[in-house]
Amino acid sequence: MNAKKPEMKVKKATLKAKKPDMSKLPKGRRPSRSPKPGDKKDESMKLQKRMLAAHAESLANAKKDGKKVVYTFVPGNLTELILAAGAIPVYPEINALQSGMRKMSASHIQEAERFGHSEDVCAYVKCDVGMMLKGNMGPTGVKVPEPDLLLLSYTGCFVFMKWFENLKQHYNCPCVMLHVPYQADGEITDAMRDYVVQQIEEKVIPALESVTGKPFDHEELVRKLELSRQAEDDMVWALQSARHRPSPIDAYFAGVYYIGPMFTAFRGTPEAVDYYRSLRREIEERIERGQGPMTPDGELKKERYRLVVEGPPNWTHFREFWKIFYDEGAVVVASTYTKVGGLYDLGFRHDPDRPLASLAEYCMGCYTNLNIPSRIDLLEKYIRDYDADGFVINSIKSCNSFSAGQLLMLRELEKRTGVPGGFIESDLVDPRYYSQANIKNRLESYLQMLAQRRAGGVKRKPEPEPVS
Ligand code: SF4
Repeated sequence: MNAKKPEMKVKKATLKAKKPDMSKLPKGRRPSRSPKPGDKKDESMKLQKRMLAAHAESLANAKKDGKKVVYTFVPGNLTELILAAGAIPVYPEINALQSGMRKMSASHIQEAERFGHSEDVCAYVKCDVGMMLKGNMGPTGVKVPEPDLLLLSYTGCFVFMKWFENLKQHYNCPCVMLHVPYQADGEITDAMRDYVVQQIEEKVIPALESVTGKPFDHEELVRKLELSRQAEDDMVWALQSARHRPSPIDAYFAGVYYIGPMFTAFRGTPEAVDYYRSLRREIEERIERGQGPMTPDGELKKERYRLVVEGPPNWTHFREFWKIFYDEGAVVVASTYTKVGGLYDLGFRHDPDRPLASLAEYCMGCYTNLNIPSRIDLLEKYIRDYDADGFVINSIKSCNSFSAGQLLMLRELEKRTGVPGGFIESDLVDPRYYSQANIKNRLESYLQMLAQRRAGGVKRKPEPEPVS
C-alpha cells in the first residue's frame, strides 16, 4: 500500500501543472495538443524500434547461432549481398553516431587519442576505434561481435580505407576491398559499371563464400533486390512529401530516422517494406490534415522558413541543434545528408533484373561519390524544387569528404539562385566542436535576414532558359 503513495502525489502534481504563457513561447511555436514523439509512437516508429531490437539481438547471438558478421560502411553498402550470403552486417558509422547521441563518444574519442590518433582524424573513426579498444561494448550496452570479414566498399572517402586498415590490424580478420570509381566527370560510364561488377563477382562474392562456407545464393539476392525496390519507392515518396506546404516532415532531423532502415541492415527485407509503407500512410494522413512536421516538442504549427541543408548533423547535441530550427519555425525540406546512402530521388532503384549491375550503380551513385559541380547542381535543384527560402551548410570539422569545397558551393549557389546561404561549423560526434550559443546566434541572424528579404519582396532568381 505504502509503495503506491508517491505515484498518487505525482498525478496530483501533474494535474496542477500551470498552463504555458503563450506570449513567452518562441516565434513559430504554439503549445500543441498533438502527442509528442515518445508519448504516443506512430506505427512506423514502433516498427523501427522492433527492427533495431531484433537486429541487436541477432548480433548478440551471432556467434552462438553460427552466423558470420561482416563490417561494412553506409555509403555504397552491399547490404542485400551480405544478407543473401546469410551474414549479418555491422556499420561502424552507425555505432559511432549512436554513441554520439548517447553521450558516449567523448570518452571513446579520448581513448583513441590516448592510443595515438591525432585530433584531426575523423571523429567517427576515433569513436569506433575507442569503443573497440574498450572492449567493443556498443551504444545500446550490447557487445558488438568481432568481424569475420571487413567489406570495404570505398565510396568517395579515403578515410574508409585507413579506418579498416586499423580494424584489420586489431581483429586480424580478412578484408576485401570493393574499389568504387569516383564520379570525377559527373557520370557513370559502362566501363566503370563493368569494373565494379567484375570486383563483386571475382572478389566480394568469393570472400563471402569463403567466410560463410556456403555457395552464394543468387536467387536469394534477386528476391532481396525486389524488396529493396518496393521500399525505395515509398522512401522517395516520403522524402519528397516535403514539397507540400506546409511540409509534413522535416527532411533532415526527422529525415535521419526515415533513412535509417534503408541505409543500414534492413534494405532487402520485408520489414523495411512494411516500415516505409507505414511511414507513407502516416505522412499521407498528415498532408490530408494540413499538418506540419513533428518535433521532439510536438507538432510544428507554423512553417516560417523552408530550408535546404548540406552536410551531416551534429549527433552529440542533436536535439538542441534541431530545437534552434523549430523554435524559429524553420523546416528543412531537403538535405544532402539523407542521400549518403543513395540518390534514390534522382530515379535510381535496385533492379532484380540486373542484380550486380544495379548494385554497382548504387555504389557509384551515393552523394559522397559525387564531384563538387554535381553536388552544387543537386543543391540548386533542391532549392528550386522544394521552393526553399534559404540553405544552410553545416561544415563538419572532422569530415573532409563533406567539408571540402563547401565555401565554393555556397558562393556558387548564391550566384545561381540569388538565395543567401548560412554557414555554421560543428562536428559529428566530437562534443568539443559543438557550441550551442555560437550556432544559435548565427542561425537566428541568418533567419532574420531571410525574413527581412521576404518583407522587402526580394525573390529567388529564376532558372535560366535552356540553351538550344
Ligand atoms: S571523413 Fe566523413 S565520409 Fe569519411 S569516414 Fe569520416 S565521416 Fe565518413
